Amino acid sequence: MNKQTPIKSVVIVGGGTAGWMAAAALARILQNKIAIRLVESDDIGSVGVGESTIPMMRVFNDALGINEDEFVRETRATFKLGIEFLDWGREGERYLHSFGRFGQDQGTVEFFQYWLRAYQAGLAPALDRYSINRMAAMANKFMRPAPPERGNSPLADIVYAFHLDAGLYARYLRTYAEARGVVRTEGKVVQVRQRSMDGFVEALVMENGDEIKGDLFLDCSGFRGLLIEETLKTGFEDWSHWLPCDRAWAVPCELAAGLKDELLPYTRAQARPAGWQWRIGLQHRTGNGHVFSSRHMSEDEAASILLNSLDGKPLADPKLLRFTAGKRSKTWNKNVVAVGLSSGFIEPLESTSIYLIQATVSSLVKFFPDAGFDQADIDEFNRQADFEVERIRDFIILHYHATTRADTPFWDHVRTMAVPDNVRRKLDLYKAHGRSVRENNELFSETAWQQVMHGQGIQARGHDPLADLLDERQLLGFLGDIENVVRKCVDYMPGHKEFIHAIWQAKR
Ligand code: FAD
Repeated sequence: MNKQTPIKSVVIVGGGTAGWMAAAALARILQNKIAIRLVESDDIGSVGVGESTIPMMRVFNDALGINEDEFVRETRATFKLGIEFLDWGREGERYLHSFGRFGQDQGTVEFFQYWLRAYQAGLAPALDRYSINRMAAMANKFMRPAPPERGNSPLADIVYAFHLDAGLYARYLRTYAEARGVVRTEGKVVQVRQRSMDGFVEALVMENGDEIKGDLFLDCSGFRGLLIEETLKTGFEDWSHWLPCDRAWAVPCELAAGLKDELLPYTRAQARPAGWQWRIGLQHRTGNGHVFSSRHMSEDEAASILLNSLDGKPLADPKLLRFTAGKRSKTWNKNVVAVGLSSGFIEPLESTSIYLIQATVSSLVKFFPDAGFDQADIDEFNRQADFEVERIRDFIILHYHATTRADTPFWDHVRTMAVPDNVRRKLDLYKAHGRSVRENNELFSETAWQQVMHGQGIQARGHDPLADLLDERQLLGFLGDIENVVRKCVDYMPGHKEFIHAIWQAKR
């Protein structure tokens, strides 16, 4: 006999990006069958940064049925084809980690291996030439991938994400969620009531004395983790020995005069003496931030590095954010699921936080509980969440560790530190034959790891011996054909700014 009692109400604490993404997605999926309430405090406010995303965001938008052109207009978004890294492996060097693939694999041999063979023999130019995403980014061009009905066009290989205004995005999702029945309550939660028998969260007590009861609680309250940590004392795994950056100054500025005509379709991440600086061009402004380690640089010095390197006039006072890299010991504890910054934080180097919000919400939907909260579901959810975030952490660690820089104590530290076994294994594998292996559903692909390892100067001793099965003439013909196709495709593409202009024109 089925004794399952359904969840009747979901309460979301927090109205930052995490809160409204969760509210929008659950509103769409639960279709008013389960009450959803979101509580946020205007006084406390939200982090308000988080402007760069990865292509998975399109899956989220599609699942919500969002019209992409409308989204681009409403959030003042620009398109993102990858991230440019400056001064990471060595000062003065740059590379682009682009989305999408390189060239074309042949049977079991990856394109990267054919290129590596030719490159090691001094016969091939930079990897850039074989990626539409990379070449388009460098030419400030953009278009969406050609649809499948256009045949086997290489233009179908374009893969993109967005740069967006996080505040406008939260507002946009709020409208979406409220239109689908989510009830918003403005006010401060001052107390959290727990069930005496098992410590499950029962109700939020608001500043005005109101009580908000619920069955399932989503903690989207930001770094503090009002429910998951302050109430349930879940614990935190600190990763700052691998990721020592623990502060960020963030400031928006005007678009530089020249950039008004040249919206860059990529994020720029420039290494600095004790961290790195981001630069993200939106339609109406540029987002900037300096992520740094307070053990290696003072807050004042970090602020002045940022303010002295802006493209245009600052549009606000710089805002300081303090954090510790790491994750909550359990993302889901009792009847509380931590979403967003309350679940932990890895710095924004590969723009993964918004993606992790999306991943947590979709995993919650997969393991959606009944009011009995079966521990087996919770354990599996947590196991998958740990795998996801640990693999992302490892990829970020790679960016710091794979460097020859020893010019500051910060770079010397990250270059020489011990890294997790998984990073060591991936480095050893790459150094042997340039190979990379993607395990299960880890977020970053083989190509992503290869791009960063090669881009930061890690040398592979050899290449896949099967790439030697082509003779040299065949190999160079194959590489040359791909290079030509990429060049022709990029020539054909419109400018990034022109593409966005057309999206606005289509509205009129
Ligand atoms: P917050 O934005 O902090 O929201 C917390 C909410 O909880 C607020 O609404 C607040 O009012 C509410 N709240 C808290 N306490 C109470 C209370 N007692 N009562 C009522 N309400 C309460 N992510 C990316 O994907 N790409 C990026 O480029 C990127 N850059 C980043 C740069 C920095 C420096 C940082 C720190 C983060 C960055 N992120 C980025 C992460 C991204 O900003 C966050 O993932 C995202 O904003 C989610 O934040 P949040 O909603 O979890 O928390």
